[in-house]
Amino acid sequence: MILEGRKVLVVGLGKTGEALCPFLLNQGARVKVSEKMNSEEMGQAVSFWRQKGVPVETGKHELESFLESDLIVPSPGVPMIPELEASRKKGIKIISEIELAYSFLKGKIVGITGSNGKSTTATLIHKILKEGGFEAFLAGNIGMPLISFVENSKDEHIYVTEISSFQLEYAEAFRVAVSIFLNISPDHLDWHTSFNDYFEAKKKLLTSQRENDIAILNRDDPQVWSLHSEGPDQVYAFSRKSKVSLGSHIEGDWVMLHDKDKKEERLMKSTEIPLIGIHNQENILASSIVGHIYGLPLSRIKDSIKSFKGLEHRLEKVLTIKGVDFYNDSKATNIDATLKSIQSFEKKIILILGGRDKGGDFHKLKKAIREKVKKIILIGEAKERIEKALNNASPLASVASLKEAVRVGYSEARPGEIILLAPACTSFDMFLNFEERGRVFKQEVFALERSLEEETR
Ligand code: ADP
Repeated sequence: MILEGRKVLVVGLGKTGEALCPFLLNQGARVKVSEKMNSEEMGQAVSFWRQKGVPVETGKHELESFLESDLIVPSPGVPMIPELEASRKKGIKIISEIELAYSFLKGKIVGITGSNGKSTTATLIHKILKEGGFEAFLAGNIGMPLISFVENSKDEHIYVTEISSFQLEYAEAFRVAVSIFLNISPDHLDWHTSFNDYFEAKKKLLTSQRENDIAILNRDDPQVWSLHSEGPDQVYAFSRKSKVSLGSHIEGDWVMLHDKDKKEERLMKSTEIPLIGIHNQENILASSIVGHIYGLPLSRIKDSIKSFKGLEHRLEKVLTIKGVDFYNDSKATNIDATLKSIQSFEKKIILILGGRDKGGDFHKLKKAIREKVKKIILIGEAKERIEKALNNASPLASVASLKEAVRVGYSEARPGEIILLAPACTSFDMFLNFEERGRVFKQEVFALERSLEEETR
């Protein structure tokens, strides 16, 4: 792809936009940025890039900036705004950052997609490969955008990349050597117009693969598994429920690995998996196949898994106060993640739910809530919709802040019970992002501990 002298519009000046600018400038492109937020909300980034000579329009998108471009690169999460629609109609090329990166990157890509578990799985695969001696890098949401690796990339590098449907939407040639499809549930329905579009976008990860590429698919997710004949010839499966002939599964107490030319082998006991939750078993099954494909001995894969601590804000244990455990799963921004979170515990749960609604179907939580949840504490904008959908599946309390949620939750809890933040909504009504929501939750738990200690002094 030749970028020299071409007018390239970067839409959005977040982490991806800021990684795109230096790359495009180096390539000799005439870069412009269009950012819908006001410059005051944007911090240093706007003045920094303006000083570098990049025109940055803020506060709105000017149609003209779009229509005069030769190429448009929207940041992940930029919806199909009218300006993009008009540009597409005019025949202007629109590509995602991973597509752009792909046309310049050396090395191989291991791409992970799915509705939930991408960051956790990408981090673990990266750990396994790195500890196994490969020059592996973590790219995407949790690491740095793929584009920022291009300049120093080498043929022997492996880029473990978390790939969202947003990025696949504007991809054509983008191709990964190993694709991993973890699961699919209706998420981001506010962004994609329908579940079908969302699925089609995700599917591209596999359908763009070629001979000698490998796909790793969740055998237990019917929609994911329905793709097994649509991608490359080499398909590995992972399953918690049934034996697979190529891939990994759980059999009794054991995590098993099975390759075509070998007998199945025991990787580790499932009780040795350091993370809680059946969904993390799935993430580990998928990750172990990658280690295996790259020829690592089982003992090495096992060691890397055993020392994996998991990620902040994903079923993260915060503290135990007088026998009550607090868990932060602020990243559970959709129904399926919250469901998995509830199912991860045997004990009774006091569940903090709510935030900004993503259009998910809260009815799906009813059964699990009836079985496990002692009380629901509602926060944020989606309160009424959740209350209606859950229809008395559990007693409810409505609160105005996470501080109140923690305090009310604790007053209801008995020793041996769990207080879980797994909101099934985004955080944007009350917080900057899920990280801030998780941090505030943890601070409030620590503050509660301190105030209880003071009371007993
Ligand atoms: P992503 O990068 O896809 O958003 P994360 O690893 O950040 O995934 O996890 C997002 C949320 O989904 C967290 O609440 C986490 O506990 C939950 N989760 C992790 N792995 C899975 C999985 N395999 N299936 C369902 N939920 C999962």
